[in-house]
Parts: sequence; structure tokens; C-alpha cells
Amino acid sequence: MSGRTVLVRSDLNVPIDDGVVGDTFRITSSLATINEVRSRAQRVIVASHLGRPDGIDPALSMAPVAQVLGELGGFATVLAPGVIGTDVVDTIANAAEGDVVVLENTRFEAGETRNDPVMADGLADLTDIFVSDAFGTAHRAHASNVGIAERVPSVAGRLMASEIDAFDRLLLGRDRPYVVVMGGAKISDKLGVIEHLLPKVDLMLIGGGMCFTLLGAAGYDVGASLFEPSMVDTVGRLLDSEHGDKIVLPRDVIVADRFAADAEHRIVPIAEIPGDGIGLDIGPATVAQFSSAIVEAEAVFWNGPMGVFEWEAFRGGTEGIADAVASSDGYTVVGGGDSVAAIRMLGRQDDVTHVSSGGGAGLAMLEGATLPGIAVLERKDRDA
Ligand code: ADP
Ligand code: MG
Repeated sequence: MSGRTVLVRSDLNVPIDDGVVGDTFRITSSLATINEVRSRAQRVIVASHLGRPDGIDPALSMAPVAQVLGELGGFATVLAPGVIGTDVVDTIANAAEGDVVVLENTRFEAGETRNDPVMADGLADLTDIFVSDAFGTAHRAHASNVGIAERVPSVAGRLMASEIDAFDRLLLGRDRPYVVVMGGAKISDKLGVIEHLLPKVDLMLIGGGMCFTLLGAAGYDVGASLFEPSMVDTVGRLLDSEHGDKIVLPRDVIVADRFAADAEHRIVPIAEIPGDGIGLDIGPATVAQFSSAIVEAEAVFWNGPMGVFEWEAFRGGTEGIADAVASSDGYTVVGGGDSVAAIRMLGRQDDVTHVSSGGGAGLAMLEGATLPGIAVLERKDRDA
């Protein structure tokens, strides 16, 4: 890399409110790669998308991200006047050694999400080497992660490599006992992951909103809880399938009288959910049961909060599971936007082996999908 220009595609898609960066997790996760490249390359360019702009949108400029990146990374950043083109080439050529040139939001270019060849050529013209580190977008074939990789020598960055290692290990499932904890809102979002992992695991513990469709299929009356009627037959077949008895459903839940932070609520066994009751968290007996399986496991993957953890009254289940995952001595991975937010909110992220920076990409891997952003690097590897 020495004497060369290197473009790093990071995932710096942080929450932005009124030009102010919210959670900096994705920025800090990207720094190891960027700093390593800085120590070895002559010129460093960092590219990322930010939000979903429809064309150029000043509210989604990379300016505040570039500033925070420099502050947290301890280096000077220069914001490029666009994503591709001669002005960008000039900015890169004129940057001082050690400075990091941050491109504007890659989605300001319409060609980005279409993986347009002209856009990919424009990105390739900026650099000698491409470092692919945006695991969070690896399930998309865009110009800034796939198109560019087809055009210049490319390698996976530190973060990308560590994410691939973590999900490969979960897919291999050699560590036993192997426990997966699934939660979150809807079963339809996560069915692919559950079906693909179920044969590989020892136990699949299910909480969150999705558990009620399963409980319904198992014959329980779930009252007014989140329920997906169109999924009942599918999940019923899953429960009756060869590996169905590995699925563990809650034995008690917290029911509320309405969907509100300050709703009246109480613990009930699952056989006693009232007709107008809304299940908004798993109950303490379930937390205890799930926790003992998690603590004894050699490998744990957790995705999806156990309840509406955004509201304090319904946070206990997610808190209990976060605590168990953090206390387990096994190999532990937390993935998913809201589950990662939950473990960080509870301050337990350092007690987990791997906190994934990519929600959808990790879940896509666990469904058994081939991710275009990873496949392109493997193709290049083989061809090299
Ligand atoms: P992740 O981002 O970790 O993959 P999801 O996006 O699938 O998780 O689900 C997170 C959402 O699920 C949260 O906003 C949470 O409030 C909601 N949720 C969890 N349990 C319930 C429930 N029992 N009823 C309704 N919503 C729930
Ligand atoms: Mg989510």
C-alpha cells in the first residue's frame, strides 16, 4: 500500500438529526481499518452512504460525519465536493499527507444503488486500491462496494473480516451447546434465519413480538398481542418439523391493557393471556429459563429484543437476556439494529465476544444467502 492511494468503503451510516451525529458506534467500529490504512498508504479516501437521500440533500451531507470521524480517529479530514469527478480528484491530489479525504454521501449519485458502471468507473478512477469494510451494506450490490471492487485490486478490511468470521462460525455451528435467541417484532422478518439455523442449533429460544404467532400456532390464545395470521400455517409446520422441539417458547409474559409506555401491566402464564391483553415482554420465569440455557452454552447468537424495550416497563426481558449473554463464557454474538442498541443501552457491549455492526447483512448470511459485497471479494481472491 505504501505510496498508493487507498479508498476505504466504510459503513458510516449513523443517525443524523439536524446535522448532528447521534450514535457513533458505526464510526468507532470503522476506525481500526481506517487507521491501519493511514499508517500504510500515501493517500486515504473514505466513502460511505448516509440515510436514503433522493439526489443531493444537504441534510444528509457527510460533513458532520467527517468531522466526528476526525475527532474520534485523531486525524484531519477533508470533505470532498462530491462523490466522483474532477473536483473530487483535485481534492484528493491536494490533500496533505495524513489527511483523510471523506467523499460526499455515495447515495447523492443515482448510480450508487443501481451499481451503475459509470459511477463505478468514477470511483475506480479515484484510487489504486479498494478496501471493503462496510459489512452493513454487503447484502447490497452497489457501485461503492461491488462495482468498484470489480475494477481495482480489492481486499476486505478489519471490520468486514471480523464480521465474516463471526457469522461463518455461527453458520458452521461447531461450538456445543449452541443456543440462538430470537426476538423483535415480526416472525415474517426472521423466518428465513430461524429455518436455516434450526437444524444447526441445540436450542432456539423465541421471545419478542414474534413469539405470539408461534404461541397461537401452538394453540394458545394470545389476546390482542402482535399476531401474523398469514404466518400461522408456516410456523405450525415448523413447530411440527423434525427440529421443531428445539424451539422454546415463553412460559409467561407481561401483558398490558393497551400499547403504551404507561399501560397497566402484569405477569401472566401464557395459558392465561386475557382476550384484550397485549403481550409486551417475556415474563420472569421465561427470563430465568432462557438465561440458564444461555449461560451454559458454548455459542450464543442473539437477535431481536424480547419486548418493547424502548419502554421501561417492558424492558426487563431484554435486560435479563442481555445480562445472560454478557455473563456467558461461551462465544457470544449480538446482531440486529435494535438488539445492538439494547445491549449498548445496558452498557454490556464489552462483555459480548462480537457485537455486529450490520443488522440486515448478518441476518442475510444466517439465512444462507450469498452476499454480493462479500462474493465479489472472494471472486477477486480466486482470480488473483
Ligand atoms: P432487530 O433490529 O434487533 O433485528 P427488530 O427490528 O426485529 O429487531 O425488532 C425490534 C422491535 O420489536 C422493537 O422496536 C420492539 O419494540 C419490538 N417488539 C419487541 N417485542 C414486541 C412485542 N411483544 N410487541 C410489539 N413489538 C415488540
Ligand atoms: Mg430493527
